[in-house]
Order: sequence, then C-alpha cells, then structure tokens
Amino acid sequence: MEPMAGSPLNVLIVDDNPDDAILLAHALEEDGHCIAHARVETAQQLEDALAQGQWDIVIADYTLPRFNAMHALEIIRRHDASLPVIVVSGTVGENMAAEVMRAGAQDYVLKNNLKRLLPAVRREIAEAALRRQQADSVYRLGHRDVLTGLPNRALMMERLVHTLTHAEQSGKMLAIAFAGLDRFKHIFDGLGRKVADNVLIEVARRITGVLRDEDTVARLGGDEFMLILPGIAQEQHVATIVQKVQQALRQPLQIDGHVIHTSASFGIALYPRDGADADLLLRSADTAMYEAKYAGRDTFRFFDATMHARVVQHLELESELRGALERRELEVYYQPQIDLNRNGTITSFEALLRWNHPTRGLVCPDDFIPLAEESGLIVPIGDWVLQEACQTTRIWAERFDPGLRIAVNLSARQFSQPDLPQKIAAILKATNLPAKNLEVELTESLVMRDIALSTRMLAEIKAMGVSIAVDDFGTGYSSLSYLKRFPIDTIKIDKSFVGEISSNPDDAAICQSIIAMGHSLRLKVIAEGVETDSQLGFLEQQHCDVVQGYLFSRAVPAQAAEELLRSGRKFDVLVPPSGAPERVLLLLDDEENIITSLKRLFRRDGYRVLSANSAAAAFELLATNKVGVIMSDQRMPNMTGTEFLHRVKELYPDTIRIVLSGYTELQSVIESINEGSIYRFLTKPWDDDQLRAAIREAFRQQEMAQENIQLNDQFRDASWKLRQTNELLQELLTEKSARISRNEVMIGAAHEAFFRLPVPLLGVDDSGLLALSNARAQSLWPSALPGADIDEVVPNEISDLFRHGKTTTKSLTVNGCSYFVHCERIDSHAGGAGWLLEVAQQNRTG
Ligand code: C2E
Ligand code: CA
Ligand code: CA
Repeated sequence: MEPMAGSPLNVLIVDDNPDDAILLAHALEEDGHCIAHARVETAQQLEDALAQGQWDIVIADYTLPRFNAMHALEIIRRHDASLPVIVVSGTVGENMAAEVMRAGAQDYVLKNNLKRLLPAVRREIAEAALRRQQADSVYRLGHRDVLTGLPNRALMMERLVHTLTHAEQSGKMLAIAFAGLDRFKHIFDGLGRKVADNVLIEVARRITGVLRDEDTVARLGGDEFMLILPGIAQEQHVATIVQKVQQALRQPLQIDGHVIHTSASFGIALYPRDGADADLLLRSADTAMYEAKYAGRDTFRFFDATMHARVVQHLELESELRGALERRELEVYYQPQIDLNRNGTITSFEALLRWNHPTRGLVCPDDFIPLAEESGLIVPIGDWVLQEACQTTRIWAERFDPGLRIAVNLSARQFSQPDLPQKIAAILKATNLPAKNLEVELTESLVMRDIALSTRMLAEIKAMGVSIAVDDFGTGYSSLSYLKRFPIDTIKIDKSFVGEISSNPDDAAICQSIIAMGHSLRLKVIAEGVETDSQLGFLEQQHCDVVQGYLFSRAVPAQAAEELLRSGRKFDVLVPPSGAPERVLLLLDDEENIITSLKRLFRRDGYRVLSANSAAAAFELLATNKVGVIMSDQRMPNMTGTEFLHRVKELYPDTIRIVLSGYTELQSVIESINEGSIYRFLTKPWDDDQLRAAIREAFRQQEMAQENIQLNDQFRDASWKLRQTNELLQELLTEKSARISRNEVMIGAAHEAFFRLPVPLLGVDDSGLLALSNARAQSLWPSALPGADIDEVVPNEISDLFRHGKTTTKSLTVNGCSYFVHCERIDSHAGGAGWLLEVAQQNRTG
C-alpha cells in the first residue's frame, strides 16, 4: 500500500548518529515515500517527540550511548501500543533480536541492509494502517455504552492509557475510582428492568454532572462505573470529588412513581502510588472497591497495600462462616436495656450475635455481619438468631417478668424477604413467645431506602403486635416526621451522639431534640452506648426513657444475662424527681482556699453546694446534678470562666451563670454578658453580704425563669398546632445538624414557626394575662401582645370563653365578624396552667 501523495510519512529515528539518520531518510525517499523525519537520541527527547508529534513509524538503533532500544521500546509502548517500531543494529545477534521482538518491536534489521529494511518499513506501515482502520470501525460501533451513552470499557481503557501518559509527563497524580451502586440487584429484582435502566441513566447523568471536563466516566457494565480523574495535586482532592458524587447520588430518584434511594461504593487508586500502569491501577481500585463494599454502603476506600491481605482474609472468613451455623459456633449474647421510667430496672434485652471461631476466638459482628449480608448467609443466620432469642426470652419471661422484651436486629437482606412477616409469626408460634415481647430493630437508612416496601412490611409486622425500633437514629436520614409515616414504637439514639453528650453542645443538642421530638410523636427513646455516670445523668435530665450501654452491662451470654435478671440489679436513679425544689449551687475555682471560704459563706443559706477545681470536673457535676446557679472563677489554667460559661449556656441554658473574678478583662466580660452567657460579673475580694444577696437573687431569677419555661412547655405539649411546629423545627434541625449552633437555630425556629402559624393563636394564663400570641393573632388584634390583659385586647365574647373552665369550641359573631374559636385547657401536675385559644376568622356577615 503506497502512502498518499501530499501526506508525508512521519518517521521518528532514534539514533545518535546524524549521518545514519540522513542516510536512512534518503533511502526511504528513494523507495517512493514522501517523508518527514526527526531524530532523537535521549530518553527525554524521545518522550517529547512522542508527546508532540503523530508518528507513523519509529526506527531505533539498538545501541545508543545514552540509552538503548529496549528502553526506547518501553517508552514507545507506554505512549502508543500500536505504533510500529523497527530496531536496527550494526551487529547480528539472535538473542538481541529475540529480546527486542519480545519487548514489542515489529522487526529487527541489520543497519545498511536496505534490502530487508525497506520492505519491512513498507509492510509495517501498511499493517499499522489496517489495524487503525479496523480499530476505528470497531469503536465507531462499540465505543459507547448503549444505555447511558457513556464510554464503555474499551474506550475507558484507551483513555486511561492515554491519561497515564500525560500524568507521567506532567508529574501530576492521576486517580481512578471504581464505583458500584449499592444493592442495585434489589432494584432490578424488585422493580424490574425498565426502572433499573432508568436508574442507571440517571446515575450516569448525575456523576457526569458533578465531574470536571477533563474527567472521564465510563460504564463498565451492570452497575459498575469507572471514573478517571487526572491532574490530582493531593489525595484529599480525590476524596472531595468522590464525596460530591456521593452527595449527588444520594438525592432520592423518582421513577415511575417509585421513590428510589441510591448510593454507591467507591474504590480509589492513585497513579503512581498504587500502580505504575493501567492494569495494576485497575487491580488496586478493584481491591479498594471490595473493601468499600464490605465496609457497608455509601462509602469509599483508598487502596492501601494491606488491603490485599485483608481481602484474602475476608474470603477465607466467608467460607468458614458458611459452616459456622451447623458447627454451632454462633451464639446469641444479650445486652440489658434499662428503663429509667421504671426505677432503673431491666425491662428488655438486645440480642447481639457472636461467633466463637475455632482459631480466631470470639469474633464480633462488625467483622462478619457485612460478609454474611453480602453473601446472603445473613438470612439463615438471622432466622436462627430470631428463633434462639425468642426461645430464651420466653423462658425468662416465665421466670422473671412476663413483660420482658427482646430486641432483635434485622439486616437489609432479611428485611427484603417478602415472607419475613410470616417467618416472624412462625417463630413466635413455635417458641410460644407473645408478639408484644418482641421488638425488631431496623436502621433508619434501611427503612428509608424503599418507602413502598417498608410501608407494607412494617404494617404487617406491626399488625402482629411486634414493636418496631429504629436503630442508629441520627446517623442517616433522621427525619422523624418522615418516619412518622411508619408504625414505629421506639427510636434508638446512635451511640456516636451519646459519647460526648455531657460536654459537646452539638451532640447534646441533637440528643435533646431527638428525645423531645420522639416524645411529641409518642415514641419511646432509647440511648445506646451509655458508658459514664455523667452521660446517664444528662439523659435522665432530658427524660430519656431507656438506656443501654457498658455502664450497666456489656452484651453477655444467656446464662450471665439470666443472672442479671435474677439478681434484680438496677440503676440508681441519679437525679431526684422534680417537685422538691432544691437550690443547687456549683462553684468552680482552681484555688482550693477560695472554694473553702465560699462554702463556709453559703452554709447558712441552705443550698446544696457543689464544687469543682476544673471545667471538666464541673461538667461531670452538671450532668449528674440539677444545678441552678453556677459561679465560676475567671482565670483558670485550661479555660477562662467566660469560655466555660459559654459552653454551659449551650448545654444547660436554664442555669444562671456568674463570674467571680479578681481581674476585670472588660472586653470578654462585656461580650459574654451581651450574648447572654453570663448573668452577672462579681469581683474578688467580695463583700459577704452582697455576695450572698446576689446568689439569692440569682436563684430567684432561675426559679422564675423555670416556671415560665414550664408554662411554655405545657402550652406546647398540649397543642396539636404546636406539635406541627415541633416537626417543622425538627426538619430544620436535621438539615443544620452539622453546624455548631443547632440549639439556637432550633429555639429561634420554634418561636418563628409558632409566630407564623397560619392560624391565630393566643396563650393565656388563668388570670387572663396573655403569655403567647402569634402574628396572625396580632394582625387581628394589634395590641394582643404577650403581657397584655386579654380582656383589653380581644372582644370579650372571645376572651370570656376560657372562663367557662373547660375545653370548648364555639362559633361567635362580633361586630359583624364571625369567628370560630377553639379553647383548650392546658394543665400539668407541676401546678402551672393556662389556656390555648385558636381562632379562625370566617367571612364577614353582611
Ligand atoms: P447495633 O445494633 O448498633 O448494636 C449496638 C452495638 O453497640 C453492639 O455491638 C453493642 O455491643 C455495642 N455497645 C453496647 N453498649 C455499648 C457501649 O456502652 N459502648 C460501646 N462502645 N458500644 C456499646 P456489637 O454487639 O459488636 O454489634 C455490632 C452490630 O452488629 C450491631 O450494631 C448490629 O448492627 C449488628 N448485629 C449484631 N447482632 C446482629 C444480628 O443478630 N443480626 C443482624 N442483622 N445484625 C446484628
Ligand atoms: Ca441494634
Ligand atoms: Ca445502634
């Protein structure tokens, strides 16, 4: 095949001798080629030439002073696998010939033997053209994935090789990420091919939407995608990109009336660190992906050298797990759940699986449940756990407490079995355990994954009388108002929030609001992972119903659990029940003698005085005592008094906080007072009488504020309108849960939401004083502001309603305006009381 006139043949000559190169070019021209040629003699020059030009053929001298043909071949192959290379040499050598051919040369020819060289060049050029033509047509046909239009595996490989070349030249990193959709099979099996295809199309669109122009996303087949991310400066940047993709995938999909939740797991490998070529890199990403899948859904993993060993270990473990059930190596452990509303006694257990492995010892579920889930083994294992736990509980219920409950975890696989409710029913029947003694635990992400399935499944389970708990609450979707659609009885606050509950305002605020919202929806709230007295104390103060954690007991074998029941062990309830108002004063000072003299001073005033010499100790005391007033020194080694009180304000906003200082750092004090974290600033040395008076006044203030709060609480608890507010609030909270000032946002939103409710609302105490009014109420009656006398601001026909002393609903006409008024009594055992008036203004008559 002759080259076309006008399009010269581009020949790259690797030779240190310019004369040889010219002779060679001349010979090619003689042979009828129109050629353009360049000569290089170092590795770097070769790299540059390959990067810059389009070459038809390379002719390389075998021996070069600065590098050799073998090295040249390696460089060329990396750039372009199909570029023909002919190696020429001054000497004959069969070994040499074999070597260069193995390394990818097309031919090996003696220098100056033009009789062989010229035909070889002709042949190679023709063959390369043919290869290119074939390749072109195959791509044209099969370059792209038909469903999503993304590059397919072949094009991905080509791009990867190409991108690697550039990465090598630029010295930048390159990342590839294997992405696998989580549980795509469920979508496919459950909703059919058409929906599944649409999911893939949308996923492709979302991934592409997030990536940069220079990135490539390819679909490798099934639910697998590959991302090629060039020009990476730092490993962290890859994480950022992948997180963006994850975020985009998490948004629920609406397809054919189904709401589908998707997520993906990613395995990431970096060039050059995790592989010098495409094959190695792909293998590394594949290994990392396996780890990511294993770790659970919606995660990513960077490849690291230890992974390989782990993957092998997992595969081993999986094959061992297959026989574990028959070999009776599995055992159910029981962890007590302590009911704080019932004097701290054990009212239930959570069943937690253990594997007594013959050589590894006791294996914890986190190390094998994901495996069992992935392989499907979880189904028979889960059945066995349910059977075993119900049987044991049945015996305990007979011996100790007929109401004793057992909570059993259900995994995703188990939950997606259509006959799960029948299975549960059969096990209850076989073990003779009443349905009310069983609770199943499901994670919130599991429940939210497929709303249609969850709705049906939970309704069936609930209908049997089995209770339903949402596990790990707070870590996923966390929308109570959403969860409210399901027949849920219990929420379990994830242990990650409980860990720092008594010192971290964010975690404390989350727990507080989960408990409050849970209660407003009439759910039982369990806190798990309770390890310290101060965590328990805080949870008690927040009226958490049930606690579970190492503080009381770890999960223990059945026999030890039975011992716990027999011994009747219980938690001492730490906080005395409210009703007996006790004045608790907390003193914080790093100087022991100051504490001593203050204690002496306040002895006469009947307070319970607590003291601490560090902020940490003070937090412990706050968690375990109902402290009303805190007086803190300003200068302390680890934290200033104002800083300390600032944090206290977040955690215990109802306390009165005072600084007692020998120094006046005016600025920080003024700031603290202005933002409300300090009530007063007192100076050392003090006047005894003045100080005592100040503390007395502080307690008075605190108790007054407390009463107000109680009154507010009563209004809120009793009113269904306000319950809506709570929900609104809670949605808000979820969104902001990553931010620092959740607490304030929440309170602000509550007021705002109440204020904006599209129904006029008035809260009034028994004497007729307005305690609350919202915008609608104020627009009806502009002077209906808190503090006003209700008779003076609204028509008496309306204000009289609450004086009847009972809940009433009435239509009234006043001055030609007709109103529909609902008046509801709000009472509490604590003594505070009032009325909520909800007004609807109807059409003007006449
Ligand atoms: P989970 O359902 O969130 O269970 C609570 C885990 O917290 C248990 O870990 C428990 O031992 C641990 N825990 C309890 N109190 C404390 C504490 O005070 N501090 C700390 N740091 N941890 C505490 P475990 O037993 O290792 O179980 C891990 C997970 O394995 C469980 O998390 C659950 O998701 C799963 N699992 C356990 N048994 C089963 C089962 O029978 N079926 C299924 N599907 N999953 C199970
Ligand atoms: Ca659980
Ligand atoms: Ca949990």
